[in-house]
Amino acid sequence: MIQIHPSRVKALEQLNSFVENNLALYARDRNFDFGPDKRTNTSCLSPYVTHGVLSEKEIIKEAIKKFPFSKIEKFIQEVLWRTYWKGWLERRPSLWTDFLNDIERLKKEFHNNKIFKNAINGNTDIECFNDWVSELKKTGYLHNHSRMWLSSIWIFTLDLPWQLGAEFFMKYLKDGDTASNTLSWRWTAGLQTKGKNYVAQEWNIKKFTNQRYEKIKLNENATPIVSDKEYVQINPDFNNAEIKDDQILLIFDNQLCFEESDFENCKFKKIKLIKNTNSTRSIELDEHLIEFKSDLITDQQYRLQDKFEVEIKDISYLKNFDLSNVIALYPGIGENLDFLNENKINLKFLYRKFDQMTNQYCNKGFFNFKKFIPKILSKLDQL
Ligand SMILES: Cc1cc2nc3c(=O)[nH]c(=O)nc-3n(C[C@H](O)[C@H](O)[C@H](O)COP(=O)(O)OP(=O)(O)OC[C@H]3O[C@@H](n4cnc5c(N)ncnc54)[C@H](O)[C@@H]3O)c2cc1C
Repeated sequence: MIQIHPSRVKALEQLNSFVENNLALYARDRNFDFGPDKRTNTSCLSPYVTHGVLSEKEIIKEAIKKFPFSKIEKFIQEVLWRTYWKGWLERRPSLWTDFLNDIERLKKEFHNNKIFKNAINGNTDIECFNDWVSELKKTGYLHNHSRMWLSSIWIFTLDLPWQLGAEFFMKYLKDGDTASNTLSWRWTAGLQTKGKNYVAQEWNIKKFTNQRYEKIKLNENATPIVSDKEYVQINPDFNNAEIKDDQILLIFDNQLCFEESDFENCKFKKIKLIKNTNSTRSIELDEHLIEFKSDLITDQQYRLQDKFEVEIKDISYLKNFDLSNVIALYPGIGENLDFLNENKINLKFLYRKFDQMTNQYCNKGFFNFKKFIPKILSKLDQL
């Protein structure tokens, strides 16, 4: 079974081992889910990327040191899918708010729904679906193809709302990410690429699980979910606030590698690492996931404490904290920013150069974004 250790040292070991041993065959093998005990054909780095323990830039640089771009193009594209989804959502922030509101409404509506209960308990008539639910709960991870199949079965065979499925994933996934998760579920539903849904097919599951499942009864003729909701695009203001000597820096749980950040050489009086637990979240997370996040924060504290005065604080602490001398690494759209906005906590932010540069390419589809990948790579050393 996959073990995701909450440590940067382990993350770097995992990155090096994947690049050395498995990256060469990634494009050929990545779509196969060989089962929970065989997870070397993809990198399994996503829990680290979600928490900022490893950055996209760091992963790409390590990969490119070993292979020419043409040999690992597919892997680079996948790493940058995450960047793209994140940038896309930053340009349409109201989608996240709508999603949370939908969940509130649907949770009441489906509270006693038997199909929903059976789905989240892994108690349906579909064996592979039940196995994936169980694996997700046990490990906090699922292979990408299984996420695609599970979400498709959830929406089109079980006929459940995509929003409840996305919430279910966020509760357990160690890489649970506001943008990648919400937008991937919308993609499966046919809302993200309008009119094009992802329909899981029996032959495809059979082939890419290496014949582990067969005779699966699915709705293979489903049509896309339709919505006339259009999201107006904004141009996010990613300008850095002025960094002054003696400021206190806040770091949230998704930027947990300060020593690799653009601001590592700036002087800060103190660093506060900000925890966000279930009492201050809209989506309740599984206790193991809360613990995983907490361990990653502690790991960041250990790595910084020789150089800075570092302490860990709960996000609610910011409600009564004097913010005049405070600056924060921008946490991005999601639960941390929601808490700040709901409590009118107006922070000055610092943005990653990487996001400042790539966000402009997230205005259209991924096909368009892809055209700019060579440009992003050519500037990587300056980002
Ligand atoms: C319904 C659904 C929900 C998902 N929810 C999440 C989520 O909450 N968080 C998340 O990080 N990914 C999510 N994904 C994308 C993808 O499944 C995971 O990123 C991938 O499985 C992680 O495994 P890996 O690290 O071995 O990936 P690899 O194949 O080794 O890829 C390397 C890195 O690229 C990024 N990446 C790869 N594929 C994608 C993708 N399709 N979209 C975005 N980034 C990608 C990840 O950071 C990953 O670590 C979701 C996909 C689907 C279909």
